[in-house]
Amino acid sequence: MKNQLTDVFNEHYQQDPAATYFAPGRVNLIGEHIDYNGGLVMPCAITAGTWLLLAPNNEGVIRFKSMNFKDEGNFALQNSYEKTGGEWYNYPLGVINELQGKGWKLATGLDLLYYGNIPIGSGLSSSASIEVLTAYALNDYYQLGHDKLELVKLSKKVENEFIGVNSGIMDQFAIAFGEADKALVLNCDTLKYKVVDCQLGDYILAIINTNKTRELSESKYNERVAECQEALKALQQEINVNNLCELNAEKFALHSHLIANETVLKRATHVVRENDRVHLAAKALNAGELEEFGRLMYASHQSLKELYEVTGKELDAVVDFCKNYAHVIGARMTGAGFGGCAIALLQKGYEQDFAKHLTEDYVAKIGYPAAIYVHAIGDGVKALAVPVN
Ligand code: ADP
Ligand code: MG
Repeated sequence: MKNQLTDVFNEHYQQDPAATYFAPGRVNLIGEHIDYNGGLVMPCAITAGTWLLLAPNNEGVIRFKSMNFKDEGNFALQNSYEKTGGEWYNYPLGVINELQGKGWKLATGLDLLYYGNIPIGSGLSSSASIEVLTAYALNDYYQLGHDKLELVKLSKKVENEFIGVNSGIMDQFAIAFGEADKALVLNCDTLKYKVVDCQLGDYILAIINTNKTRELSESKYNERVAECQEALKALQQEINVNNLCELNAEKFALHSHLIANETVLKRATHVVRENDRVHLAAKALNAGELEEFGRLMYASHQSLKELYEVTGKELDAVVDFCKNYAHVIGARMTGAGFGGCAIALLQKGYEQDFAKHLTEDYVAKIGYPAAIYVHAIGDGVKALAVPVN
């Protein structure tokens, strides 16, 4: 892959790349719709990701090319940039803008070439991947001196402010700090995290893309954020809490009568129980109890379906199939929901059988096929050796 990219870089920019970087995509194993409620999430990086080759140029312009998109970006050197339309290169442009805002000045032009094998727009966070990749690469290549956490926060700021998507910090964090065969248990309030061994033994992580477009996902996402804020406000009439995840299910039960709206109560109940499940899931992984981990995944999905109402018929079809398939021990939606991807713990050796039967079942129920990928739990963002042709 890298050698092919070098050829494209050479041909397109008429020079050799000076450095190569990789950033993964991510899945969240458990702890969904928790990051904006100050609780625990358990993401990991996956071996699919985004590559970047770069080299300075003498043309006085920043040039963006991606193998995944037709549009190419070409920008004069300026002190700051603004988002222009909906083109993909706004993501790296936003990162350059933020880095310059912290005192860096790009002195010469720059050529950048991207390629990604994360399915785009499917909830595996190709957007956070390209942000963290660009931030890490420029910080490393130009020796800007920011630590990884600063780059994570800067990337999140690009997503929230430059691009305008209201998301938490989990994605950028997992992409920066992920490690092969490990999951992160991240407290989204304090940003403290632990690395847990995630040896799947006889199982692999199957990722199932529902191929459902996420049309309403943004407004529904914002609606859930607002409902959680309403629940918190109701609880604050009686107790001193800063976010819902400060309460475990037991404590929550003592005060939940303060939440008058039934829908809001359901949302808060999911959040509190899901946060408790992450504690249990970390324990299960530490003890090597994969079946218990799988059971918690199913319970998480059920709660996201019934209490949080963010699954939809496509994700439910995938998880229902998994429940009836003998060689899966746990499955759930991952990401914001309303489409996107599900994950399943699938027994090794059954990849083809699973894909065949899931596809038949899914097409019969939904009318078009899902896509199934198998990725290992991989490293976070990193520099790669520049290939020699
Ligand atoms: P996701 O769930 O994959 O994060 P988003 O809609 O948040 O979906 O982000 C997808 C957008 O990120 C793409 O439309 C594109 O603008 C940008 N992007 C991601 N990967 C690449 C890539 N390899 N090359 C160019 N742009 C990319
Ligand atoms: Mg995204």
